[in-house]
Amino acid sequence: MVAGARWDRLTWGPRRRRRRMLRLLRELDRQDALASPPAWRAPPDLAYAVPPRPRRRTAVAVVPIVATLAITGGLLWVRGVADEHIDHVASIIPMSDTRPPVAADAQAGRLVPAPRAPSGSGGFDLLSTNAVSVAAYDPCRPLHLVVNHEAAPPSADVILRDAIAMVGPAAGLRIVLDGATDELAQSRRPPTDASRYGSRWSPALVAWTTPERVPVLDGDVAGVGGSVAVTDSSGHLHNVSGIVHLDGPALTELTRRRGGHEVAVAVVAHELVHLLGLAHTQESGQLMNAENSGQTTLGDGDRRGLALLADRPCAREL
Ligand SMILES: [Zn+2]
Repeated sequence: MVAGARWDRLTWGPRRRRRRMLRLLRELDRQDALASPPAWRAPPDLAYAVPPRPRRRTAVAVVPIVATLAITGGLLWVRGVADEHIDHVASIIPMSDTRPPVAADAQAGRLVPAPRAPSGSGGFDLLSTNAVSVAAYDPCRPLHLVVNHEAAPPSADVILRDAIAMVGPAAGLRIVLDGATDELAQSRRPPTDASRYGSRWSPALVAWTTPERVPVLDGDVAGVGGSVAVTDSSGHLHNVSGIVHLDGPALTELTRRRGGHEVAVAVVAHELVHLLGLAHTQESGQLMNAENSGQTTLGDGDRRGLALLADRPCAREL
């Protein structure tokens, strides 16, 4: 998934890690967003068709049977170090006879108005595509989330709700919090778990966890997010489940800082956007810029990317 040596370099002891994070947070305070370079502009009507090849297309690992989750590094976005962490891995599995029945809450039409792609500058990149479509969630059913509070900061629920409020309307999705779960973060989470969630795709797991449990969170990485997609009979990709793993201790420390809540919301929103299907972009001024230097809200490129993901018909086979 990630080159071992690369992550070895990022494995620091807790004390050194904390010092580095505090230094990076100070740097975060100092940085200003850079002027936006010319952007790749994605016409909104390209959604659900073959997308333009992204400038930095992300790797897609095709897993034939066993589903693993798309993991994308999410950072505290400090320019100059973030490029150490850029890694995108997505998983795609074929639709099979063992898929769960069509969700009971799937509707015939979309639940939230399709967002309009804004004009202006700012690009985006897609996390997972194939020859015919982009992987995204069905706009005609709620996207369910469950939350594990193993290492959650006191304001975790407010942070998550604020992040959902930022991302949901821009994604044209109804994101529903189903409540708490005792399911802990794991690196290879299957997309179904009948014993825990019944005969359906598992709700996406938002886990406030620790680097000890999720080693990819060591170093400067504050969260990871991604989804598993299935291909339907026509070859189109649909995200069906996913994860957002958050570094609870680091984000707890962050929330104690002045302005920390806003940054924590941005971190969670960034990971939620990975969950929905966007990768990192090199465009400055975007929440999905891996080298972000203080952006805490969605930029035009982020919104344009989310609008592209949202522009798709109902997923009738799921
Ligand atoms: Zn990221």
